[in-house]
Amino acid sequence: MTAQLIDGKAIAMKVREDIAAEVARRVIAGKPKPFLATVLVGHRPDSAAYVASKGKACQELGMGSISEHLPADATQEQVEALVSRLNADQNVNGILVQLPLPAHLDEERVLSLINIEKDVDGFSPINIGRLAQKGRKPLFVPCTPYGCLYLLEQVGVNIEGANAVVLGRSNIVGMPAALLLIGRNATVTVCHSRTRDLANVCRQADILIAAIGRTEMVRGDWIKPGAAVIDVGINSVPDATKKSGHRLVGDVCFDEAREVAGWITPVPGGVGPMTIAMLMKNTLHAAQIQDR
Ligand code: NAP
Repeated sequence: MTAQLIDGKAIAMKVREDIAAEVARRVIAGKPKPFLATVLVGHRPDSAAYVASKGKACQELGMGSISEHLPADATQEQVEALVSRLNADQNVNGILVQLPLPAHLDEERVLSLINIEKDVDGFSPINIGRLAQKGRKPLFVPCTPYGCLYLLEQVGVNIEGANAVVLGRSNIVGMPAALLLIGRNATVTVCHSRTRDLANVCRQADILIAAIGRTEMVRGDWIKPGAAVIDVGINSVPDATKKSGHRLVGDVCFDEAREVAGWITPVPGGVGPMTIAMLMKNTLHAAQIQDR
């Protein structure tokens, strides 16, 4: 069997086109452009690249953005003062604090400070708490898990009643992905570094979401025939044939898994493009709920 490829790039493009059209309608109606503020603390090249790509996406979709940059030795007070200023700025609809913050900063306190109506990453305790509670809705769903669920729904994977296995329990991917799946009536198992016999747990999965950051750890014989496999992992491996000297691979061994799975996302071109598309969706949503 050869799996059906889930083309995250094409699906993300369609999401972006719809957002751009809605933004244009808002502007014609005399409403302000949705506006995103990103906060980068320090000089991690990967974080700087993510922040730059978010600003570029805003521009491409007709939204406004500003990138706030603090030095790596910024104090807790400085970061909190910046977030408070952005909270109070009526022109700013969404605030995204790029993670991870330098180790000396209290991430939880910073994220807690973001006005819930501007929490476009969905990481504030109130949004996550609502995601975890039955009958409650968060204002914003964290972008990467939101993208994973969106991909499954777009290709018509049946989530209700399915056995879903989530590899990884991080605050930004694994845990919210599990909560979203529970909310869609899947039966969910969450695995982590202490899980015993991971391969066997994965073999029960109708839906497998891998978010562990371990190069191609999930092998073809871990996959239930016909399963939907969403590979969130982004791992860089040396590749002398590439100009950059490296290439990106997922947490799933794609060549093996595609022979067994029913659906599979590639890396790159699967979940990655969805994360930014969902951030743009959340930023538009923030502007809509702040329309007074
Ligand atoms: P993280 O915070 O490092 O969490 C990794 C999780 O995987 C933890 O829960 C950890 O278990 C678990 N884990 C690690 N090694 C394991 C092993 N050998 N067996 C079983 N579980 C293991 O990572 P993250 O931020 O969630 O990111 C995960 C991956 O997704 C990374 O490759 C990251 O680059 C990628 N990512 C991609 C996107 C995108 O847009 N495509 C967005 C975010 C992240 P413990 O909890 O027990 O430590």
